[in-house]
Amino acid sequence: MSCCISYLCCVVVCLSCSSTTRKREDYLEWPEYFMAVAFLSAQRSKDPSSQVGACIVNQENKIVGIGYNGMPNGCDDDLLPWSRSADDRLDTKYPYVCHAELNAIMNKNSADVKGCSMYVALFPCNECAKLIIQAGIKEVIYLSDKYHDTPEMVASRKLLSMAGIQYRQFKPKRTEIVIDFNSINHLEC
Ligand SMILES: [Zn+2]
Repeated sequence: MSCCISYLCCVVVCLSCSSTTRKREDYLEWPEYFMAVAFLSAQRSKDPSSQVGACIVNQENKIVGIGYNGMPNGCDDDLLPWSRSADDRLDTKYPYVCHAELNAIMNKNSADVKGCSMYVALFPCNECAKLIIQAGIKEVIYLSDKYHDTPEMVASRKLLSMAGIQYRQFKPKRTEIVIDFNSINHLEC
């Protein structure tokens, strides 16, 4: 009998259609939600070769900063180069572009990001590691580590470890999350 009572506690009764059902099971859990926000933000990037997003979350699971890679404010992204390689480094994007982590920290809508977690599509480079450390972020959750063996990533891990910042790879339970604007029109009550 007791299991029957607990069952009744978690069912949802829809009065208008008189059907009884359990809550949705495929809702987004917090980590996949925050990583998805980072990936959605990345779609704002104008970089033709790399779209990276970052999402900063406080200890109450509230988003306090979002960013993606792009040229600095006020700098015309039609005039600056987007190339990955050129004879002159000044003709590549690297001296100019702001990484997603930098933008997420600078875009914060809270007084600071101390003790927060950062969800980011790619493991942060050494320059972003410095920013993460100085901003007081306590944890980095990344999805891809495709540049693991580059000097920038080796230095980044060294800095993050020395500063006592946790980092761990996010292992998604699903490979994609579809945003279907039309779904709202065929939802049932
Ligand atoms: Zn970076």
